[in-house]
Amino acid sequence: MSSNSILEKYPNYKTDIGIEIHVQLTTKSKIFCSCPNTINPQPNSTICQVCAGYPGVLPVLNKEVVNMAIMAGLATNCTINKISEFDRKHYFYPDLPKGYQITQGKKPICNNGYIEITKEDGTTKKVRINRIHIEEDAGKNTHSDASLESFVDLNRAGTPLLEIVTEPDIESAHEAREYLKNLRLIVQHLGICTGNMEEGAFRGDTNISVRKKDSLKLGTKCELKNINSFKFISDAIEYEIERQIIAIESGEKILQETRLWDSKEKKTFVMRVKGEAADYRYLNDPDMPILEIQETWIKEIQKSMPELPQEKKEKLKKDFGLSDYEANILLNEREISTFFETCFKINPSKQLINWILRDLIGFLKEEKILLAESKITPELMANFTKLLDDGKINSRVAKEVFDEFIKTGEVPSDIVKNKGLESITSVNEIEKIIKQIIASNPKQLEEYKSGKTKLFGFFVGKTMEATAGKCDPKILQELLHKYLN
Ligand SMILES: [Zn+2]
Repeated sequence: MSSNSILEKYPNYKTDIGIEIHVQLTTKSKIFCSCPNTINPQPNSTICQVCAGYPGVLPVLNKEVVNMAIMAGLATNCTINKISEFDRKHYFYPDLPKGYQITQGKKPICNNGYIEITKEDGTTKKVRINRIHIEEDAGKNTHSDASLESFVDLNRAGTPLLEIVTEPDIESAHEAREYLKNLRLIVQHLGICTGNMEEGAFRGDTNISVRKKDSLKLGTKCELKNINSFKFISDAIEYEIERQIIAIESGEKILQETRLWDSKEKKTFVMRVKGEAADYRYLNDPDMPILEIQETWIKEIQKSMPELPQEKKEKLKKDFGLSDYEANILLNEREISTFFETCFKINPSKQLINWILRDLIGFLKEEKILLAESKITPELMANFTKLLDDGKINSRVAKEVFDEFIKTGEVPSDIVKNKGLESITSVNEIEKIIKQIIASNPKQLEEYKSGKTKLFGFFVGKTMEATAGKCDPKILQELLHKYLN
C-alpha cells in the first residue's frame, strides 16, 4: 500500500481529520432491557416494550455496558469520569419509536485520552481522544422497490454502542488508517467488539477539512458517512482532500456537508448540506439516574483487563523471538496467534512460525475456511515440526507431508512412516549412491573438474532423484564436495 499522500501534490496545504467511531458492544443483552443482543434474521423477534419504545416503560442500564466503556477508556488512556449523565437526543424517524435516542451529551463517561499511531516516516504520534460516550442504537428501515413498501425492524434498537471521538489530529489517509487499525485491534483484544466492519459493528464517520499551511484557523469540514472498509476510507479521504483543495484554489467556498463515498465511481457525493448545526434539543433524561463510578470499580476493571495489542506484540517478540513483521501478522490474527503459542508450548521449534505464516495461513485463505474449521490441531503441528527439528524429513518432503496432514488430519509421523518418506541420513547409503552417479556420468565429472562448477547442482539433482527426494541435504552436500574434488 502506498503511503504517499495526495498532499505531496499540494505542498502549501495541510489537512485536519477527526474520526468518530461507533463500536457495537458484544454484551449478552441489550443496553436498557434484557432482550438478547444478537443478530436475528427474523424481523422484530428480539424486542420488548422497552426497546420498542412503548410509553410508560423504564430503561435499566446494563452494567456490562459500563464495564466495557471503562475498559475502552482505560485502554485508550482516558480519564474515567466519576459522574456521567444520560441525555435524550431528539429526532423523528420510523426506526426510532421513542422519538429520541438515549445517549450521553455534555457529561460522557470518558474524556481526554489518546492512541499512539505510526506516521508515514516511521515515527509515532498521539491522536488525542476527546471523548467516549455510551448510547443506544436505533432499529433499521428497509425499503422494497418491488412492492413500494417500507418496513421497520426493531431488532437492532437498544444495541449498546460506544462512540469514540478524536480531536482533529489526523493529518493524512495513512494516519487515519493507522488510527482505525489500532483502535479496532484494541476493542477486539478487549473482547468488547467483533470489529466486523461489513456488519457495521465497527463503523465510522470522518470529518475532513483542509487549510493553507500558514493558516491557524481550521477549514470548513465535510463529514464522510459510514464507510465500511479501510480501503474505502483511505480512498475517500484522499479524494476529499483533493476535492477541497481544488475548490479552494478556484475560489469556491467549502460548504459544510455530509457526503457519501461511491466506491464504484471512486468519488464522494453530497448526501445533505448542513445549514446550522442540527438541533436535537438535548435534554437530560429524567428516566436515567446519574451514573456514578467509584474508584474501586475502575480498579476492579483494571485488574481484569486482558492484554492490549501493544503489550501482546512486545511479548511475542520477547518470548518467541519473532520479528516485528511476524508479530504484527499474529496480532491481526488472534485465532492463529493462540494456535502458534499452543504449538510452541508442545514443541518450541524455530521452524514453526514460517510454516504457520506461509503455509497454514496460505491454506486457510485458499480454502476460505477458519482455523477452527480445518482438521489441523496444535498436536499435529507440533508432531510435524518435531520431524523437521530431528532431521527425520527434509524440507522437500515436509511440504508434501504438510499438504497431506492439513487436509486429512492424519498424524504427520504416521504419514512419513507409511509412505516411507523418512530422510536417508546414513552416510554409507548416500555414499554408495553418489559413487554410482559419479561413475555413470563421466562427461559431467570431467567438465566439472575443468572448472564448470555449476554442474554441482546437476549431481545434487541426480542424487535427489535417485533417493526420491529423501536424501538429507546436508550430508549430500558434504559428500558430494568430498567425491567431486
Ligand atoms: Zn428489549
